[in-house]
Amino acid sequence: ETQSPLPDDTRIITVSNQKGGVGKTTTTVNLASALARRGANVLVIDLDPQGNASTALGVPHRPEVTSVYDVLLGEEGIEAAIQPTTDHERLFCVPSTINLAGAEIELVSLVAREQRLRTALADFLQESDIRFHYVFIDCPPSLGLLTVNAFVAANEVLIPIQCEYYALEGLSQLLGNIQLIQKHLNPGLRVSTILLTMYDARTNLAQEVAHEVREHFPDEVLSAVIPRSVRISEAPSYGQTVHAYDHGSIGALAYLEAAAEIAERGATITEGA
Ligand code: ADP
Ligand code: MG
Repeated sequence: ETQSPLPDDTRIITVSNQKGGVGKTTTTVNLASALARRGANVLVIDLDPQGNASTALGVPHRPEVTSVYDVLLGEEGIEAAIQPTTDHERLFCVPSTINLAGAEIELVSLVAREQRLRTALADFLQESDIRFHYVFIDCPPSLGLLTVNAFVAANEVLIPIQCEYYALEGLSQLLGNIQLIQKHLNPGLRVSTILLTMYDARTNLAQEVAHEVREHFPDEVLSAVIPRSVRISEAPSYGQTVHAYDHGSIGALAYLEAAAEIAERGATITEGA
């Protein structure tokens, strides 16, 4: 099968970890918002049937809304599903709706079932009037067909790791799956970034976990760590990112720092062009 070529001036980053509750969605929306605030054009694709990223960006995602579900089933292009956000004029979102919960099964019988998001995204990016610097894909907590679609559509993987006792458990399974994707479906994919989340500097455990993850992945782990912060966890219930909710908070600053590092690492791609 021939693959749709992705533009080489857009960083397409899938945020993945098959564990739930590690900070995937929180990281997706707050990094995306931070990068938009730095001057980049950013698209968030919500690929979790829960629609938490859509909620956090204040984007409607009732069942009748045109969403990533319609895109995956080939009934609509991304241009029909994309919505502006109230968070920032440079930040856009393709929402997910609850219909997506059935998509894993509906996709099975479709042609090129692993390539559907990539094809839609390649078409969209080629035709869009807005030049997007970043696309973030928020994955569900599983390694099913939705996550496979995200891996095939991306050129980078960002893995959020929660600084807790079982942090590294399951990571080898995730990395093994990514290797399979690289081998069979998307040779251009690489694990570019690991972000430590919900870090509590007062506990020895968090420090030990952080140390261990850095030892295993010295090049991938960002220097910035995301602290455990009430402001971060409160923001989504107001349909806001932490930057809109409390821009001076330590959580907002931590995500801005992480965004700066991510931008710097991809400095061959110029922002604000
Ligand atoms: P995932 O998408 O991996 O399931 P979420 O981003 O939804 O994880 O985070 C799980 C829960 O933890 C949410 O209630 C979220 O608000 C909370 N949370 C995430 N990051 C932080 C943080 N740095 N500090 C405090 N709470 C956080
Ligand atoms: Mg999530």
